[in-house]
Amino acid sequence: MRSIKTVFLFFIMLSVSFFSMAEMKSVTVKGNAQSPLKPIIIQGPMPIEAQHFAALLDNVVIEKSGLFVFYKGTLNGYPVIVSQTGKGLENTAAATAIAIERYSPIAIINQGTSGGHDKNLNVADIVLGKRTVNIGNLKAPKAPEGKGSNSLTWIPMDIMASSGSAGGDDANKIRYYEGSSALISSAHKVKYNKGKVVEGTIGSANFWNNELDRINWFHTNFGTSTEEMESASAAQISEAYKIPFLAIRILSNNATNGGHYNPNTAKYCQSYVKDVVIQYISDLNLK
Ligand code: SAH
Repeated sequence: MRSIKTVFLFFIMLSVSFFSMAEMKSVTVKGNAQSPLKPIIIQGPMPIEAQHFAALLDNVVIEKSGLFVFYKGTLNGYPVIVSQTGKGLENTAAATAIAIERYSPIAIINQGTSGGHDKNLNVADIVLGKRTVNIGNLKAPKAPEGKGSNSLTWIPMDIMASSGSAGGDDANKIRYYEGSSALISSAHKVKYNKGKVVEGTIGSANFWNNELDRINWFHTNFGTSTEEMESASAAQISEAYKIPFLAIRILSNNATNGGHYNPNTAKYCQSYVKDVVIQYISDLNLK
């Protein structure tokens, strides 16, 4: 009887150690040379929008491709790459494609400054891009010589519409890119003390709008909360490769309520995004 008990106990101990070995194995497999941890990419256009974050990383190695700079490092032991993209849609699209091909990221965050389209948002408030949209994709109706130009009559144009030619009616619509709900939910858990954090629509174009009627037109017709020059292109390329993406933009200025440009906001945004990244790593149990 006693020996049966011992044999039974022995088997239990054997299976327990087998399972814990299996678990240990799966933990080590997460980050070894055969299957390295996939990095999180943080994009910022200008030096003031990227270098504060790069300085928060440990073990930094700098890699360059063309004009693009990648600061490869770790945050709390998890791989994070800060990508200084340069300004505008083209630079950002190229930097995003290079980052995806080179580093196989698990997620991409595009962050930086922006100009408010919503009177209820103040300088230093942060918009989580539930949606991003290219607000330069527009088509003008025909007008004869001498009739001038009125941007408030322009029609949205979807450059990804299937029929190919921009002349087709199926292209007369706004294309939005959805922000990753997992990244948004991690972002909501982070405390921020310089202003509000709201979900909204981030509009991008190589354009700095200052005409209040045009800003209000975008706010009404496209639902924009704020504008900048990069996020929609990073969202478009991330979607093409099915990489979870979120734009996080701080208001550095807001022409709709007299909010003057404050360059310090670039740093506030990076500090907030750093906390979002740490929260995301913990929420996804990545480490
Ligand atoms: N004050 C700077 C402007 C930078 S250019 C200068 O005069 O040099 C624009 C950069 O700031 C872009 O990367 C863009 O994403 C961001 N940005 C901030 N506010 C903006 C606004 N109101 N409209 C467009 N881009 C804005």
